[in-house]
Amino acid sequence: MSVLDAVRAEVCALHTHLTRWNLVTWTAGNVSARVPGEDLLVIKPSGVSYDELTPAAMVVCDLDGKLVEGEHSPSSDTESHAYVYRHMPEVNGVVHTHSPYATAWAARGEPIPCSLTAMADEFGGDIPIGPFALIGSDDIGRGIVETLRGSRSPAVLMRQHGPFTIGASAKAAVKAAVMCEDVARTMLLARQLGAIDRLPGEAVDSLYDRYQNVYGQR
Ligand SMILES: [Zn+2]
Repeated sequence: MSVLDAVRAEVCALHTHLTRWNLVTWTAGNVSARVPGEDLLVIKPSGVSYDELTPAAMVVCDLDGKLVEGEHSPSSDTESHAYVYRHMPEVNGVVHTHSPYATAWAARGEPIPCSLTAMADEFGGDIPIGPFALIGSDDIGRGIVETLRGSRSPAVLMRQHGPFTIGASAKAAVKAAVMCEDVARTMLLARQLGAIDRLPGEAVDSLYDRYQNVYGQR
């Protein structure tokens, strides 16, 4: 199997997490991955339902978002993904959804406050709000990059739109999308019980460092 075919298969398979974790409705949402060693990305085709996705249906684009190979047109969010890959060389995966709880915080334009140890572990602080930006230019991509460059969070809630997540791999970006929705839901429930205190900064730093560097199988 060629490298490109392997990335197509990986990106196709990762989309099953978006439906499994209830992050998407109808055909909304997309996962992309950078092709190792190439100035290319693989992304979901536009408007194809999740149960019809196959590795062969995945679309290959260059890092300007232009179609290189595929029988379908690429996701309408491709330019935003491409902008992230052009400007963040450490990023190899990008995910976008309108998952309901995270998008509720985006609708309010309010960061999700870092008030849980699990949030400190995964996000290293608040999940930030990015600027409002219309689709069809570099504005969404620029907003993602400018917001996440100044944050440890792999997730940004684009104002009045929804979450975008990044990762060192496409799988890591999918995990960030799943965890973002999970903490968005829990923090919304907590907010309904009353005011929320953020964790102290030293605790956030300690938790983040331990989880990122010590936790799990080595
Ligand atoms: Zn969107």
